[in-house]
Amino acid sequence: MVQKMHPESLMMSYGYKPALSEGAVKCPIFQTSTFCFKSAEEGKAFFEVAYGLRDKKPAEELGLIYSRINNPDLEILENRLTLWDEAEECAVFESGMSAISTLLLEFLSPGDLLMVSSPLYGGTDHFVNHFLPKIGIDVIEFKPRQTYEDMTALIENSGKADKLAMIYLETPANPTNDLIDIQCCKEIAEKYSREDKKVYLAVDNTYMGPLWQHPLNLGADFVLYSATKYIGGHSDVIAGACLGSKEVMTRIKNLRTFLGNMAGPWTGWLLLRSLETLKVRMEQQAKNAEVIANFLNNHPKVEKVYYPGLLSADDEQYEIYKRQCSSPGAMVSFDIKGGEKEAFTFLNNLKLVKLAVSLGSTESLGEHPATMTHAGVEPHHRAAMNITDKLIRLSIGVENVYDLENDIGNALSKV
Ligand SMILES: *Cc1c(COP(=O)(O)O)cnc(C)c1O
Repeated sequence: MVQKMHPESLMMSYGYKPALSEGAVKCPIFQTSTFCFKSAEEGKAFFEVAYGLRDKKPAEELGLIYSRINNPDLEILENRLTLWDEAEECAVFESGMSAISTLLLEFLSPGDLLMVSSPLYGGTDHFVNHFLPKIGIDVIEFKPRQTYEDMTALIENSGKADKLAMIYLETPANPTNDLIDIQCCKEIAEKYSREDKKVYLAVDNTYMGPLWQHPLNLGADFVLYSATKYIGGHSDVIAGACLGSKEVMTRIKNLRTFLGNMAGPWTGWLLLRSLETLKVRMEQQAKNAEVIANFLNNHPKVEKVYYPGLLSADDEQYEIYKRQCSSPGAMVSFDIKGGEKEAFTFLNNLKLVKLAVSLGSTESLGEHPATMTHAGVEPHHRAAMNITDKLIRLSIGVENVYDLENDIGNALSKV
């Protein structure tokens, strides 16, 4: 019997046939906008499949047509990404935000109700609370630690329970590392689904994925990524991905074709290269983060550390963590003793850790959510989410961990 290989073994080869590219070991960059058909009949057949005019024949694959519809760098990348989440299909976009907004635009209609977890990534928060209401979509939000009963009460009290169309989550939440119970949300989605109207469950897995958490296996219909973060992993490319079943992804890919927000061949190629080292990078980052979280947790200038690995066993969040995540990840947030002044002094004195937003890269990054990534969130809303002036978010990279500890220790000593 042939043993099924692990994703990390397949990241260098899966879905690529050297014979189709002059024997090149690595997939070339197919920097072309369009592809030659062998005959007019072939062109006709490709379009019939691409535009859904007829079903694919057994073993028929979508032929290469035009790079807004498909391109080898993109298709191979999408096939490789499906392996980590055991998804049927994947669509890659030119940014995480375009993956998220395309999903919401395709699966929500005017009059619908969307329920979201909070806090959300700043860009998602803005799209959901400022753009979706303009097209007649109502949004309600719940907070970490709210129970099944709290959440169903929120839906009932909205007066639009029959219009619930999607539950959208981010777990662990950015920047607080709060965890949301995916299976509990699945039960709620099922409770409000009817034969003629399924309530979809979507999870932004940027913080943990695709290595340490697999929302599709926990009942989600969609998993989303800012591939700018761990998947890209080198702070040199903006990209996004959405994965799910063939049925739902056909709809996503159709809208992507007409919005034209697919990733280009160069982005696809960069991400193919990144995927080869995804696992070794992320594992080293998680190892370093554990050391840094413990260092901060014992530091006199630090008030509180937000990191799943430090949850105590009697915390209800601990149970969710154990059920959903196979690692505490590599994002560490903490409250410094003091406020904005102390936080800025710390950030201004970091040398190895760069003062920048974004996360998941080989180099460590630090930022101040209240005035940077989450500056656009209403102040009272920010306070409710525990994003205060003393909160600092660190993304831990692959550097030597003692150099990181020294750098962070030095910066804290200047406060
Ligand atoms: C960065 C990020 C996004 C947005 O992705 P872009 O690639 O910047 O468009 C969405 N969700 C989370 C959790 C993020 O960290």
